[in-house]
Amino acid sequence: MHSIIPLDVGTFDALPKQTCTYRMYREVTYRAPCVIWSITGTRDNILVDLGPPDPPRVLESQGFVMLRGERQQPRAALQAVGVDPCQVRTVILTHLHWDHAWGFHLFENARFIIQKKELEYALSPLPCHRPAYYGKPPGQAQFVDYLDRLTVIEGDAVVEPGVEAVFIPSHTPGFQGVAVDTEKGRYFIAGDAVGLYECWETVPHIPSGIFNNLEDCYRSADKIERIADHVLPGHDARVFDRPSYP
Ligand SMILES: [Zn+2]
Repeated sequence: MHSIIPLDVGTFDALPKQTCTYRMYREVTYRAPCVIWSITGTRDNILVDLGPPDPPRVLESQGFVMLRGERQQPRAALQAVGVDPCQVRTVILTHLHWDHAWGFHLFENARFIIQKKELEYALSPLPCHRPAYYGKPPGQAQFVDYLDRLTVIEGDAVVEPGVEAVFIPSHTPGFQGVAVDTEKGRYFIAGDAVGLYECWETVPHIPSGIFNNLEDCYRSADKIERIADHVLPGHDARVFDRPSYP
């Protein structure tokens, strides 16, 4: 059986809350964490997502202030829970936005699992979504240099027994979450499909403020309802209230 450890790899000083909550809290900002998820008890030492680049690059490419202390350096955060980057053989990427897909170079022995639809969209996003993949002014996204290391899947796929990539188009057209079987039921790493606990705890659930198709968002929320016992959100500091799940 598996457990899930959330790793804190950076803090946005003032993320507009409406990024996570469709048309709500338009004037509100909050301190938003960036998370890498480590799934213990897996053959491949599976991680979910890579986190954002270093603060200077975040500021330059996105205009955001991100705080990253020593312990929030991805290497240090992994080391603190006993994960050696060289031993990581699988990284599941929920999507290819800049704050989740920087750090390929740290994992020289890993494959990176992405949905076909996400890769296609990331290579040619709508103009309004381009900065989320390539920054502003547009620069190179790191995944472009790692195309040969991507494992491209289409739809739901068992990655290892008890760990399943689940296609949930929502925050992006090719988004995937990760369902993990644990002693206490099925946890679902929802990433930015569910930005905050509040998005999930409110019924009907609150869609992300970033999406292409709202109907997909609602359909995917229904799918999460069907398959998950517990949901872990993408940018909520409350995930660190516990060192691991379950
Ligand atoms: Zn994000």
